Amino acid sequence: MSQPQRAPGGFPVVGIIGGGQLARMCAGPAAELGVTLSVLAEAPDASAALVIPSAPVGSHADLAAVLAFARDCDVVTFDHEHVPAPVLAALVAEGMPLHPSPAALVFAQDKVAMRERLTAGGIPVPRWTVARTEAQVEAFGAQTGWPVVVKTPRGGYDGKGVLIADQPADVRDWLSRPETTDTGLLLEERVPFVRELAALIARSPSGQAAAWPVVETVQTDGICTEVLAPAPGIDPALAAQITATALRIAGDLGVTGVLAVELFETPEGGFLVNELAMRPHNSGHWSMDGAVTGQFEQHLRAVLDLPLGDPTPHHPWTVMANVLGGDDEEIYSAYRHVMARDPGAKVHMYGKGVRPGRKIGHVNVSGEDLGDARERAGHAAAYLQGSVRE
Ligand code: ADP
Repeated sequence: MSQPQRAPGGFPVVGIIGGGQLARMCAGPAAELGVTLSVLAEAPDASAALVIPSAPVGSHADLAAVLAFARDCDVVTFDHEHVPAPVLAALVAEGMPLHPSPAALVFAQDKVAMRERLTAGGIPVPRWTVARTEAQVEAFGAQTGWPVVVKTPRGGYDGKGVLIADQPADVRDWLSRPETTDTGLLLEERVPFVRELAALIARSPSGQAAAWPVVETVQTDGICTEVLAPAPGIDPALAAQITATALRIAGDLGVTGVLAVELFETPEGGFLVNELAMRPHNSGHWSMDGAVTGQFEQHLRAVLDLPLGDPTPHHPWTVMANVLGGDDEEIYSAYRHVMARDPGAKVHMYGKGVRPGRKIGHVNVSGEDLGDARERAGHAAAYLQGSVRE
């Protein structure tokens, strides 16, 4: 495995396990800071491997590959939460600084562990239980009402691993999976939320923390399609309470790096925590162009235990629209139209193969007027994904 080329001047090497778009979007800020990145990529053409010269190919679950990769790095962080516990433990045993630590990361890896921990800490979450049998599903549904939201404790993303069950029989297939015997399924009441929100903060090993404003995330078929920063019309007291909760979670769990807390705003004007992610997150992509310090730079600062940057937005509104793969694999030819129509739109593409529904890029638009920013970001994303043609 060739070693990453370190910049002269005492600059560190940050290792990222996983070569997806989050690792890729760290490349710009790392280059600006003079920090070298190295990614353990799942394939030579992984999103991050296309732009980061040090990108050895290996699986995040292959202990030998991960250890060999980490030995060339000063600190290791993650593009996703799927690194198995024994691999993480081996890295810790080697004395490798890991951010977040495995002790914190488990609460982003395992939704049951997360629900238990947040409940114990008095953080508001949807009513939940763990079920292994249809009778248990039936009993929970009788208590909370139907439908019930069913989740696999591990490995879900973009709504994969989430099932809305109208009756116990809908869960039969999932209950019969071998892994269910082991982990059970997470059952939750279906929250009649008015909208989905996200709080994004960063925390360094020294304990410094910085928070971006609470944002609204818009999902379509379980996939985040749009983020509005800050969340329009949010009660300032609710926003402050949510930010305080996110900071408290980060402190209690010992999170280092970026933490995203996904939430539901309830009809009563309160909130419930849905999910935690301990890495830069889709709900923070707006900050790359809309805040003094974007989440990718902030994540690097945090994992290196540098003082954190200012998360203040520099426009009243920033809207992020995700570009999802469509039928058309040719994306670049859309640039001419998108860029000519709107010079203020900031286009970010991930170098990923187009598959229907896959997140392949996003567009940020900042401005004084929310409606205008939404229209412009939405149009540019739709044009790039081929769903509008003019
Ligand atoms: P993933 O890990 O796949 O992102 P999430 O737990 O975030 O899974 O759920 C995906 C989406 O499903 C959420 O963004 C939300 O729209 C919906 N959802 C999840 N849990 C609930 C719930 N308890 N009540 C209502 N909707 C939910």
